[in-house]
Amino acid sequence: MLLPYPFAGPFDYAVPEGARYAPGDIVLVPLNRREEVGVVWDAPSGPPVAAGRLKPVTALLDTPRLPDALRRFVDWVAGYTLAAPGEVLAMALRVNALSPPMPAPGWQLADPLPEARLTEPRRRVLAALADRAPRTAPDLARLAGCSAAVVRGMADAGLLTPAPIPAGPAFLAPQPGHLQPALSAGQQSVAAALRDAVEGQAFSVTLLDGVTGSGKTETYLEAVAACLTAGRQSLVLLPEIALSAQFLSRFERRFGVAPALWHSDLTSRLRRVTWRAVADGTARVVVGARSALFLPFPELGLLVVDEEHETAFKQEDGVVYHARDMAVVRARLSDAPAILVSATPSLESLANVEAGRYGHLRLSARHAGARLPQVSAIDMRDHPPERGRFLSPVLVDAVQQTLAAGEQAMFFLNRRGYAPLTLCRACGHRLACPNCTAWLVEHRARRVLACHHCGHQEPVPPACPVCAAEGTLAPIGPGVERITEEVDAVFPQARRLVMASDTIPGPHAAAEAARAIEERRVDLVVGTQIVAKGWHFPHLTLVGVVDADLGLAGGDLRAAERTVQLLHQVGGRAGRAEAPGRVLLQTFSPEHPVMQALVAGDLEGFYAREAEARRPGNWPPYGRLAALIVSADSADAADLAARDLGRAAPHGEGMLVLGPAPAPLAILRGRHRRRLLLKTRRDVAVQPLLRAWLAKVAAPRGVRVDVDVDPVSFL
Ligand code: ADP
Ligand code: ZN
Repeated sequence: MLLPYPFAGPFDYAVPEGARYAPGDIVLVPLNRREEVGVVWDAPSGPPVAAGRLKPVTALLDTPRLPDALRRFVDWVAGYTLAAPGEVLAMALRVNALSPPMPAPGWQLADPLPEARLTEPRRRVLAALADRAPRTAPDLARLAGCSAAVVRGMADAGLLTPAPIPAGPAFLAPQPGHLQPALSAGQQSVAAALRDAVEGQAFSVTLLDGVTGSGKTETYLEAVAACLTAGRQSLVLLPEIALSAQFLSRFERRFGVAPALWHSDLTSRLRRVTWRAVADGTARVVVGARSALFLPFPELGLLVVDEEHETAFKQEDGVVYHARDMAVVRARLSDAPAILVSATPSLESLANVEAGRYGHLRLSARHAGARLPQVSAIDMRDHPPERGRFLSPVLVDAVQQTLAAGEQAMFFLNRRGYAPLTLCRACGHRLACPNCTAWLVEHRARRVLACHHCGHQEPVPPACPVCAAEGTLAPIGPGVERITEEVDAVFPQARRLVMASDTIPGPHAAAEAARAIEERRVDLVVGTQIVAKGWHFPHLTLVGVVDADLGLAGGDLRAAERTVQLLHQVGGRAGRAEAPGRVLLQTFSPEHPVMQALVAGDLEGFYAREAEARRPGNWPPYGRLAALIVSADSADAADLAARDLGRAAPHGEGMLVLGPAPAPLAILRGRHRRRLLLKTRRDVAVQPLLRAWLAKVAAPRGVRVDVDVDPVSFL
């Protein structure tokens, strides 16, 4: 019996008279005088415990059984990440799936409709109810692209009347033949290969790699169609569901109905409904965030990981796992194909292609003859901005031309807030977070200084907290708010939109922003990494990268790779329709290989050089890494524990332990952090080494050791 808690392993219970359980059954069991949910796991492996000493199972819940493939997956993830199996099981049971869903409160059109003011969003809500089927407020808000407040307002105005929605089938089946696109010849052959993989009903992994706008999405939706036809379920993982409005409306156009969604912002009712619909097979296609891997699919026939290079697929807290890699495992355990999709694949996936483990399909041209944008670098040493400004005259000119041609332009800066650092000009003091080794970032619109690591906030002080001088605190460097201020000063006539996490808090705002850009109600977009996602903006022809060097600072293993991926993706938003696009990179080092690769459009050359740089030292993907992060209340306790671990480190052929060393974020949320890094050859399994290593050292009270296998972040 496995319980969803971080215990070392399963517990044994007695089966009551007359009861029979099968692995996967969800039951109630007594634990410490409480009732807990547990899942029947495997027959006990140890010596039998005398039956009289076991407590009996209390009850079998009226809940679908967890499929074997999911149980094997839970065990596998636990084994790989060194998490307790119960901790992983908790992710599969996090939904309160255990009580059956209740009828939901819904709304329908009032009949007759009273006189009321009809704004544009209100009209869209009415349109969404035109088919007379009642819908929940969140569903209405989503369909109409408005906030829930609009729906509430309409209810108050008597335009909507309550109508309960029966807890019947929640998901209509997507129709594989609803609107089939006319694929180009290249797309057709890729689609055929993907369809074959689905119809083979066997495990395989394919990297679908194609330039931005080449129709990768269009093509893998054909694989989803084949999976629907074959009668199996599909799962499409996206890095950020909140930014996927365009994808979802495309899905609906292609298949006639919306997919089931799975992400952290679902209401608890929808969670329950969706979990059950996946388990009983009524949800045929799920589009989800990484946690969707733990849904109880009984007949999974296809897994797609879109934007597979995205670091958002790595879960950094709790069970630390990479959803792209675990998707491949999930596919193997379900005898299903996996498709990894990206215009800028991870070096990991390319290495797997090279080693023959993954297949490789490519789309090499943009759809409908659209050309890839022309990329050039602006050398900021030769074309500096005016004092106190950040946009070079070259970029300003180019934007002016674009606007004059009636087209849209975008400024990209991957940094939130107004300024990343505030400095006292009198004494040199820098405002830092009290809990972390980090500078406070000014957010001028909200009038606060914020730590981007722990969430600490404080008002901007009226005087320097150290020398008490007034009016001497100066913002250093730009964040996206400061660039917006400059853009407004330089292009006062332009209608501009900011896309950052503070201005785009959720799916509605994202959908509305996308619509405003598509409908040309906006001339200039200023954005953070949000704008680098898979958006399709046909009238956007110029992308200006404000600080192309930003991601290259710091010694991160993947800094160059990530910068190329991010800037190529942002640039890929330009010129996706008839008008050709341009990308301008503001940089102080145009000779850097990353800038050279972007300007020449030579990603392959870049990847090849990056691979050669990593191969000799056994750096991933040519070797394995695992990190141990030691944290404690005091620096001394952290040092002591880290030194003990360092002394117990594994030795041997093909392995090396680096550290202990203070983490770059040496203090986080008030805890002092030290890192050790185990690097091995690819043919060495790190998990047994880590287990033996950790078993040798008992962490003292108040000291934590976190394990991160295949680390992505080195902070
Ligand atoms: P990618 O996923 O490679 O960035 P998309 O699948 O988003 O590319 O395609 C880019 C744009 O071209 C989208 O608007 C898509 O609808 C359109 N498109 C691609 N292929 C076709 C096709 N065969 N027929 C019609 N439209 C297509
Ligand atoms: Zn902090």
